[in-house]
This record gives sequence, C-alpha cells and structure tokens, in this order.
Amino acid sequence: MVSRVIPVERFDLVIFGGTGDLARRKILPGLHRRYLAGQMPEDSQIIGAARADLDEQGYRDLIRDAIKEFGDPKDQDETRLGDFLNHISYVSIDATGEKGWGTLAEKIRPGLIHAYYFSVGPGLFGDLAERLHKHGIADERSRIVVEKPFGHDLESARALNRVLAEHFDECQVYRIDHYLGKETVQNLMAVRFANILFEPLWNSQYVDHIQITVSETVGVGGRGAYYDKSGAMRDMVQNHLMQLLCLIAMEPPSRFGPDEVRDEKLKVIRALEPVDPHHIVRGQYSATADEPSYRDDAGDPRSLTESFIALKCHISNWRWSGTPFYLRTGKKLKARESEIVVVFKDAPHLIFGQESGQHCNTLAIRLQPNEGMTLGMTIKDPGPGGMRLIDVPLDMTFAEALGEDIDDAPDAYERLIMDVMRGNQTLFMRGDEVEAAWGWTDPIIAGWQDRGEVPKPYDVGSSGPEDAMMLMHRDGRRWREIKE
Ligand code: NAP
Repeated sequence: MVSRVIPVERFDLVIFGGTGDLARRKILPGLHRRYLAGQMPEDSQIIGAARADLDEQGYRDLIRDAIKEFGDPKDQDETRLGDFLNHISYVSIDATGEKGWGTLAEKIRPGLIHAYYFSVGPGLFGDLAERLHKHGIADERSRIVVEKPFGHDLESARALNRVLAEHFDECQVYRIDHYLGKETVQNLMAVRFANILFEPLWNSQYVDHIQITVSETVGVGGRGAYYDKSGAMRDMVQNHLMQLLCLIAMEPPSRFGPDEVRDEKLKVIRALEPVDPHHIVRGQYSATADEPSYRDDAGDPRSLTESFIALKCHISNWRWSGTPFYLRTGKKLKARESEIVVVFKDAPHLIFGQESGQHCNTLAIRLQPNEGMTLGMTIKDPGPGGMRLIDVPLDMTFAEALGEDIDDAPDAYERLIMDVMRGNQTLFMRGDEVEAAWGWTDPIIAGWQDRGEVPKPYDVGSSGPEDAMMLMHRDGRRWREIKE
C-alpha cells in the first residue's frame, strides 16, 4: 500500500508537564514512534518543562525509561532511541512564577513551527498563556495544545476559553479529544462520505436506532477522589461519546476541512433535545468478595456519582427526527469495548412468511479492540428444510484486511500531535463545540442532582444495571452484547 503522508516542517515542541503521567505514557512514546517512522524532521527539538530540578541527562533518562515501559516493545532499538533522545532537552520552569522562562525563551528558535503542549491541570492554562506572551516566546504562528477535561461545566469551559482567547486566536488552539485521533473514527467519516452505499440509507427513514457503547473493565482505582467530582457523564459522555455521536449523525461537510467538519458537528450538538429523566439510567459498581465498590474507591460511602450511565437522546432535525440514539458507558463492566452500531429498520414486507422471523441489517463499527466494521446481513440458512433465514456478519477486521499497514498506523496521540505540527485542526474540538456540549450536559446533571437520584448498583463484570437493559427493552429493542 502506498501511503501519502503529509510532511511536517521543522518544529520546536515544548511539553509543559513534561515529567507527568500523560507525557511519559502517551506523548513522548508517541513522538518516538513518529520519529522512527521518519515523520519528525531531523532538526526538530522537544523541550520538556516542569518544576522538577532535572538536568538534561536526568530528563533524557526519565524519557528513556518511559519509552521502555510504555512504548511499543518492537520499537526499542537502542541506537535509534539514543538518536531520538538527542532531540530532547529540559527546562525547569514554574508556570506560576518567573523561574525558567528566560532559559526557555533562549531555546526557542525563530522561524520554526512552535507548539506548546499544556499537559498540566487546567488551573495553569492562564498562567502559561500569559507568560508565553510576556516573555515573547509565542507568536501568531504558535500553537497550543490543551487536554481534557476542558472545563467541568459550561461556566468553567467558557472561563477557560476566555483565558486562552486573551492570548491566542482560536485557530492556534488545539483541544484534544483523543477519540477523534483513532483510526476507526476517521474511517467512520471515510465510510460515510467516500461510499455511496450508505448515505441514502443514513436517516430516520431507514435507521431504526443507533447505539454507542464505551465499556471499560477498569474501575476508578487510584483516581477515585478526582473521578468522584466528575462521573461518567462529564468524564466520557460530554466529550468522547458526544464526538462519536456527532460524527455518526452530522451532515456531509462540503470538504474535509477544520471549520467545515466542526460546523457540522456543532449543528448536531445544537439539535440535541433535552433528555427526559426517564431515559437516563445511572449506576455504581458494587463490591465483590475481592474488590472494592465504587464508593470504596471514591472514598465516600454516600457518593452519588455515577460510574455508569445509559441514556436515550434525540436529534431534532430532518435527518434524524424519530430515530433514537442510545449511549452507554461505564467502568468495571464485562469487557473493554467501544462500538457504534447502526441498526437498520426491518424489510418493509416479509415475503418468506412469519416463520422466517424478524431480521434487520446492522453496521457495527468497532473502535477497540480489533478495530473494524461488521455488516450484519440476512441470508438463507444453508441446506434443506425450506426458506429459513439467518443473520451473518460480513466482517472486516482492519488488522486482517490491511495486514502490517494497520500495525504501523499512528495511534491517536501520535496522529493528533503530528496534525498540530501540520496546522490541521480538523480532529480537534473548537471552543464553541465544547461549550455547546456542556450546554446540553449541564441541565441533565442538574436535573438528577435536584431530584437527589441515587445511582443503581451493578455487578462488576456485568453490562451495567438491569434498568439500562429495560431502557431498551421498553422500546422493543436490545443492546448489543458487550463481548468478553
Ligand atoms: P500529572 O502526572 O500530575 O503531571 C502534571 C505535570 O505538570 C508534571 O510534569 C508536573 O511536574 C507539572 N506541573 C505541575 N505544576 C506545575 C507548575 N506550577 N509549573 C510547571 N509545571 C508544573 O498529570 P497528567 O496525568 O500528566 O495530566 C496532565 C493533564 O492531562 C491534566 O490536565 C489531565 O487532566 C490531562 N489528561 C491526562 C491523561 C492521562 O492519561 N494522564 C489523560 C487525559 C488527559 P512538577 O510537579 O515537577 O512541576
């Protein structure tokens, strides 16, 4: 397969929070992989920045260890790793004080692409933006990258947007939702907009409903105190699931450009109806003989925060009026799985008689694991015995279909960081999009808080509370099984 990769210009990338968990686990191992793939221009430099007092060698050792621990085991060639580390330096800096800024300013080379990754808590965004300008480090070509969570609600998201807007134009701000960097998520757009097959059927006339599931097997573990202030709605639905919903539901943009795509996503969020409280099920995992409950993990025996949520929502526009979207996500469930399923309506008339049963087509898009797509088709059960029908999958697991090429494809962080360097914002969230998402989420959360609702308990390793099943069953539908 011939790949046409858009080249990246020489860059200086500063990672504020360069000693933190995200930098060590994702950002630097990702950059290392892109370096090995030949996508990082030789004269580029990466500067880690944090308060810790480290010299250059100390920081390189830290990153070497991180790549060994979190990088791909097949990418551990010592010589190449050493070459990559030669591009890395470190500045001890305080985002809230003056220490280190002069040194950083000296390291930034004029005329190159400059990107500043704010891999720190959002409370430091304002300090960083202000000091980058005060010390003449950022200019109108600079880019800043910020992480989720982007705010806790509409008000705090607006405040963050305001702080960033004081120093940077919207076209310089790259808000990461790493789900958008996943290969399959982009494939979702390719499937929809590069094939004529689905588009005529992609509406409420032919689609019965759409399900989006993001299930995790992990609990909240050591992040309990942090997670307890957030919950599944804020941590997963407001960003990742909403982004998936937008991509599946949006109108075809006129071209695959940042504003064209983001304008269409924004229209979807704005068309979302408020959610009926009866269409929301929240849950918390219970203790087992060996493992703690959600409330144990959160350190609050009376916590009302959800570790699971399922809800049904509607999009009020011509395309989707009448087609429900069911979203669910939770922790400590049966399996780790992210999947979107488009369930088409039954054929309008059964020519094979009642005994052939009800059958419908489905298009399942798996984001993880085993990225791929399955088209559920109805065919004749082979052999004698009349016209019995069965549903069979037309399966395309990308790893099987594309072989090694998929293994070498960049992971979400790698792709997104390279897109920052290319100046392509298509896969990043725009400020108004994030605010619109909070604008839909806030009243839902306020509603259950006002009603004092207690999440339903569910068993570890299950598919969530029984009521989540009922949410579908009441409508004569069922969730796709979360497969182990
Ligand atoms: P972390 O492990 O706590 O790291 C925070 C980093 O910020 C450290 O390098 C710390 O180093 C630095 N820092 C803190 N205060 C500073 C200051 N005043 N001046 C300069 N540097 C300072 O956090 P993280 O998990 O990497 O997360 C970073 C951001 O990414 C957060 O906003 C988080 O919500 C988001 N995020 C993280 C993940 C993940 O998987 N970890 C996933 C999605 C989003 P010093 O203490 O030495 O200064």
